[in-house]
Amino acid sequence: MLCIFETRGFNPPEALIFQDGLVVEKCPACGRAIEVDSFKESRAWIGSQGAKWPDVCCSLGKLVLHERVIDILTGEGLTGFKAHPATIEQIKSKKLAAQPTPQYYIIEIQGGVDIDLEELDDDGGSICPICFYRNPRDDSPYRWSPKRLVPKLETWDGSDFVRLRNLRNARKFCSKRFIDLACQHRWTNFIFGESLPGVGLWEKPPKGGLSYLDPEWFEKLTERVKAKHPDLFQTASS
Ligand SMILES: [Zn+2]
Repeated sequence: MLCIFETRGFNPPEALIFQDGLVVEKCPACGRAIEVDSFKESRAWIGSQGAKWPDVCCSLGKLVLHERVIDILTGEGLTGFKAHPATIEQIKSKKLAAQPTPQYYIIEIQGGVDIDLEELDDDGGSICPICFYRNPRDDSPYRWSPKRLVPKLETWDGSDFVRLRNLRNARKFCSKRFIDLACQHRWTNFIFGESLPGVGLWEKPPKGGLSYLDPEWFEKLTERVKAKHPDLFQTASS
């Protein structure tokens, strides 16, 4: 059973913009410049639109969560993340400035899972063994985006938040448990699984899309994934 979903915040005009230290190193194997995340100095500017503080923001590839979400994650014992408080330096929206300012946290993902490299493209992934960047052939049909991302669940450390260990990219993944909490507490502004056309989850879905606020989101999503990738469900135990 696939239980890991990509997660990010919808980036509306009122999104928070965060900046923090970024260290760039050179990979000794392939020479590529690699960015190393730093969470030491996280600062925020609030854009000029919007009247409600969202539960999630996505900024510069980072997952940024409202304090009420962190409180629930901590209380429920979800694992695989570290929350770094962000300093809000400026709020341009008068409507937001008139309200109490919540604490936001930038999420450092600490859990991990491996991806099946054979599923990335027809070349076995072409992954650098040191920095795990993918470098597909110029004429590969999957040069710009992989065929599909299939986690090897036997390598999953069980964390509720994970990154891919053997492929370097900005995507973050979460457990079903996290989306159940988003449904239960009616969290705003999330998008799950956006990179899978037709099988994403939104707060307010586009036409034909699914909402994570629907208590039957998991059953409906499973049906869609099954229709699109039936081979992933043909296991010995099914
Ligand atoms: Zn490398």
